[in-house]
Amino acid sequence: MGLLSLGTPLHWKDTRKHADEVREQGIIQLIKMFESAHERKNDKFLWGDELEYMLLKIDEDSKDVKLAIDEDSILQRLSPEGCAYNKCIENEISFHPEYGRYMLEATPARPYDGEKIDDYLFVEKNMSIRRKIAINELHDKNVFPFTLTVYPRMGTPHFTYPDAIPNGEASKSLFLPDEIINRHVRFPTLTANIRRRRGAKVAINVPLYKDTRTRKNDEIDPTIPKRNLFPFHDAEPFLGAALPGHIYMDSMGFGMGCSCLQVTMQTPDLSANRYLYDSLVCITPIMLALTAASPIFRGFLADQDVRWNVISGSVDDRTPYERGVEPLKGHNLYGEIDVKNSSLYRIPKSRYDSVDQYLGDVGSDGITTNFFDKSYNDLTPVRNEKIFNKLTKEAKFDEILANHFAHLFIRDPIVVFSENLKQDNDFQTDHFENIQSTNWQTLRFKPPIQQAVPENHKTPGWRVEFRPMEISITDFENAAYAIFVVLLSRSILKYRPNFYLPITCVDKNMKLAHKRESATNGIFYFRKNILSKEVNSIAELSLNQIINGSNEFIGLIPLIEKFLNEELFKSATEEQLFKIRTYLKLVSYRASGEIPTTAKYIRNFVLNHPNYAKDSIVSKEINFDLIKNLSKLTAYDKEIVKDFFGNDIARDMEKMGYC
Ligand code: ADP
Ligand code: MG
Ligand code: MG
Ligand code: MG
Ligand code: MG
Ligand code: MG
Repeated sequence: MGLLSLGTPLHWKDTRKHADEVREQGIIQLIKMFESAHERKNDKFLWGDELEYMLLKIDEDSKDVKLAIDEDSILQRLSPEGCAYNKCIENEISFHPEYGRYMLEATPARPYDGEKIDDYLFVEKNMSIRRKIAINELHDKNVFPFTLTVYPRMGTPHFTYPDAIPNGEASKSLFLPDEIINRHVRFPTLTANIRRRRGAKVAINVPLYKDTRTRKNDEIDPTIPKRNLFPFHDAEPFLGAALPGHIYMDSMGFGMGCSCLQVTMQTPDLSANRYLYDSLVCITPIMLALTAASPIFRGFLADQDVRWNVISGSVDDRTPYERGVEPLKGHNLYGEIDVKNSSLYRIPKSRYDSVDQYLGDVGSDGITTNFFDKSYNDLTPVRNEKIFNKLTKEAKFDEILANHFAHLFIRDPIVVFSENLKQDNDFQTDHFENIQSTNWQTLRFKPPIQQAVPENHKTPGWRVEFRPMEISITDFENAAYAIFVVLLSRSILKYRPNFYLPITCVDKNMKLAHKRESATNGIFYFRKNILSKEVNSIAELSLNQIINGSNEFIGLIPLIEKFLNEELFKSATEEQLFKIRTYLKLVSYRASGEIPTTAKYIRNFVLNHPNYAKDSIVSKEINFDLIKNLSKLTAYDKEIVKDFFGNDIARDMEKMGYC
């Protein structure tokens, strides 16, 4: 989350009147940012992770778990004005608000140095301190922070503590009370304005896992409440929004209330940043599949393993026209879009979706690989022509960069604060960030601010944010995945492989990554020849082959091993080596299927639970036992560690003192 502005957020009706103004000012800010930072060189490889927590209240007496929505004052205590802030300073951690009132985000307070072996070993320690401090600072001693991608019973009756009724004006959801939304006025406004712009509530349909006693495939979920509180919206599921054979969800919280693991990395300069961004495009679906941790939504087993399409659907503010579909019966065609005064686009994807185009590995200098070929950008996404034309007249933007931003800027701002409209474009970036930070892609290209002139290395430089990963239950895994992505990125910057694939292939991989057990059964498009400029070099590989290597492709871990031996490990102790190798082992074993993904483990837990009735329903009792089990795993209970990580990794972990 970016900075939270104070002030008065505008209703969508007024927000849209300022949309062009926000875009125009935002682009001026962007041009100034580029002018200042264009010539930056030799920035250090700094990086940092973001972890998102859910607060769960565990009641041993009633054997129930609830999402805790009354513990959010912890964020004040941990903020710079708060009484516990000194603990954050001492431990180099930083807490931030998130969409859910039951959520916390935490990052390291200073970025890690990607060239220092000690910093890699500090990552997991930093993560575990975050968890400890959060536990200490919570008032209710039965509330615990979990790094769980989806709360399994989100949106079932009485899933919060204290109890709250789904009757809120912001979401108008049949399942989620507005009391789950962060109290800061930005978040309910975001929720409401997305619905208002779309002209209907968001509609998310996840295929239901089919078991022997699961409800019939042609049936719409009979548990969807029939209500007449918001007549227009309450009828939506029965007017085509809810699909038979699916788990239907109708609110932003189902997606933005999920947790994930993100990694931001700084590269030496703009051209290296474009190259790293492009190289990681094909890695995004791979890491989504590998970190799969979302087999349950709204109390039902799903026939998919990840959260991505849920979060994508949860903020899909496109009108029916933009989506190219008929509106629901009785809803107007364009939602609350002013047809006469809007330039209408057909937009194939939600603003939360996969990358639409490469940036090209071209640059004024730096090490230029020149692997990019125009044919890789085979999606031709819509763009804002006015902004495209403006940017192409600017010396600092070539056509591909102009295209990238002109595509992001087809979107409207969703929340505008009236006090923030007037900006000093030499110093502020709010309008640019307004559009940039509500384009939630698998990767984010983060440019530096206007003050980031070449000699000012105190201000962050060019960065890439890696965003597809699901969050894992333990700090050990989250550290392992974050470090894997960082070491891979460092290897990419060192060895300069060619990872380009047509972007449509990457989108097919994204779809595949959703499939149940795609981590072990999926066959993904990947590049075969990573050393040549050859344009069409496509192999079809399993995650095992991509991660661990095969005849056709060297493998991402072997690439990292080479890098470690030639660079980082030269200065490492035996103990440090052992830990990093165990991290890589985790990634390797998940890819080979030697150990289950989190999604598979959770699904199996439900399927094997004595109370499970083969009806795909995850009851209160099953949920309680599952969460209890995961809480023991978070604390590295020996038996569960063995079960979850397998004997080999469990042995390594025991040796390192985890259990
Ligand atoms: P956002 O929500 O926009 O992604 P956050 O501030 O939550 O941003 O997280 C940014 C991450 O980037 C943090 O982990 C932080 O440590 C890291 N970071 C900060 N400065 C730099 C930098 N110069 N280079 C790389 N990463 C950085
Ligand atoms: Mg976040
Ligand atoms: Mg953040
Ligand atoms: Mg953010
Ligand atoms: Mg209410
Ligand atoms: Mg982020």
